[in-house]
Amino acid sequence: MATASLDIAQHSPRATPIAAERTQPMAIEKVAEVQAHASAAPGKPSLAGLTRDELKARLAQIGVPERELKMRVGQLWHWINLRGAQTFDAMSNVCKGLRQALADAYTLYRPTVASEQVSKDGTRKWLLRMPSTGPLDKGAEIECVYIPEVDRGTLCVSSQVGCTLTCSFCHTGTQRLVRNLTAQEIVAQLIVARDRLGDWPGAMPPDGAFVPSDGGRFVSNIVFMGMGEPLYNLDNVVAAIRVMSDNEGLSLSRRRITVSTSGVVPQIERLGAEANTMLAISLHAVRDDLRDELVPLNRKYPIAQLLEACRAYPGLSNARRITFEYVMLKGVNDSDADARELVRLLRGIPAKINLIPFNPWPGARYQCSDWERIERFSEIVFRAGYASPVRTPRGRDILAACGQLKSETEKLRARARLMLEAGIGAEGVYALGDEA
Ligand code: SAH
Ligand code: SF4
Repeated sequence: MATASLDIAQHSPRATPIAAERTQPMAIEKVAEVQAHASAAPGKPSLAGLTRDELKARLAQIGVPERELKMRVGQLWHWINLRGAQTFDAMSNVCKGLRQALADAYTLYRPTVASEQVSKDGTRKWLLRMPSTGPLDKGAEIECVYIPEVDRGTLCVSSQVGCTLTCSFCHTGTQRLVRNLTAQEIVAQLIVARDRLGDWPGAMPPDGAFVPSDGGRFVSNIVFMGMGEPLYNLDNVVAAIRVMSDNEGLSLSRRRITVSTSGVVPQIERLGAEANTMLAISLHAVRDDLRDELVPLNRKYPIAQLLEACRAYPGLSNARRITFEYVMLKGVNDSDADARELVRLLRGIPAKINLIPFNPWPGARYQCSDWERIERFSEIVFRAGYASPVRTPRGRDILAACGQLKSETEKLRARARLMLEAGIGAEGVYALGDEA
């Protein structure tokens, strides 16, 4: 039943009907319909977003001698990741012959921006279309959101197309098509954001863009909170983080990169050891019976196991606390008793608790807790000694907030049209490129 009654959801979460698009009511995961593959676009492949090793291999393929490889990789790295070059011609310190050879074999192509929406609050959401990988693939679409704030600019990136998990409050989980993104496709999201924000040396920001006052970058922080479960695609996520944090290139501090997981316990240690980023855990419930319902992966890795993995997270300290995300669902997980239990569970873990007002989406069976309830919950957590910021919903008018991401160009366009017709929040809905 797609239109689950909220009353039922509130009073008896275990009895909540499952939305029709969820194929297996009690399934933890959907079957991935398309597996991960290298991004081998038909036509010339792009070098933008590749790792150093991949660049080296591409150069070797066009006959660059072994003894020159390191130096040439360094040159390309500089132009692609530090300067944002979009043509090989711009690479003035690369000899003409090599520039031509590069242009004959490769491009610096980025994913197509199929649409850009700008929220009233400055949040920007891009629908990116990846190059097609063959006759059966018309090019996956993913969403990527930029959130400007006074002291930072955060880019929310996707790690998968859709998500195999089926959290009951999350829009992304209803998407049927799922595949892993390659490391290149993950990095490309940052490159596109810098293109569109004019965030390269010498580039101009778009009209009305928030400009950092301290001369800093537009994108200062990355959160893996877009589509997908990053720890189900850890190899590519780790490789992408390596590129994004490289000091001679995109230069984002690992302490400003946060990976959010619904709780893939066996991969948490590896994330800390190999990527050394900040960790966020989508907790959302303090009892296993309720978390089983909200985050079905909990049936595999229950709360106690998850918190044990958190306690063992490499590098954990008061200066490097874990963020626990807690979505506020009216009448489901938002009581005083829930808040007190939350505090008890997290005792001893350096933590902050991020309360996320539930972002509704068409067909969702939950409601967001009332504001007074959220404040009261936050107060209990705060009094127990934890920072408990309530995450301001950003970009709600363009469905760019947490859990609202679902890349379906058709629906997006229809929605934008409806919003325009209704005269709500539709300013800044731009259609770019060749939308199907
Ligand atoms: N798959 C990962 C990362 C992406 S989701 C994870 O689950 O952690 C990013 C955050 O948004 C998670 O905390 C997720 O639980 C939350 N979220 C999902 N749907 C939401 C919704 N409708 N309203 C508010 N937060 C939501
Ligand atoms: Fe997937 Fe995260 Fe959404 Fe759950 S909340 S369905 S893990 S994207």
